[in-house]
Amino acid sequence: MTETVQTSLTTAVWRSVRGRCPNCGKGRLLHKYLKVHPTCASCGEELHHQRADDFPAYLVVAIVGHIVMPLLLWVEIRFQPDYWVHMAIWLPLTLFLALVLLPIVKGGIIALQWHIGMHGFETSKRARIARL
Ligand SMILES: [Zn+2]
Repeated sequence: MTETVQTSLTTAVWRSVRGRCPNCGKGRLLHKYLKVHPTCASCGEELHHQRADDFPAYLVVAIVGHIVMPLLLWVEIRFQPDYWVHMAIWLPLTLFLALVLLPIVKGGIIALQWHIGMHGFETSKRARIARL
């Protein structure tokens, strides 16, 4: 478990947005799309302490909204297509972006909680600091 000693926030977030354990980067973080593994299969880090709750969904709504709305407005102003064209473009794009971003954002939030030592991750953080 020497990986835990010098794991920076950037490294932990990078590992988790790719769906890996923030501690070792080897074990899988999520299964069944958004379910978090209780412990890492590779290093044994307890991951069930995460409390991401609805925060990933809020962030994804904000991110997707900031991507889709300017594009939608630009297309409307520039081309003024029929509404069915808007529906055919923006609904699938919005759904696709939301579904792709949800596990990525959830991983990042879990890594942030893990690194800061929020909730039950506090014990893990103390153990990491003690090994320094
Ligand atoms: Zn791990």
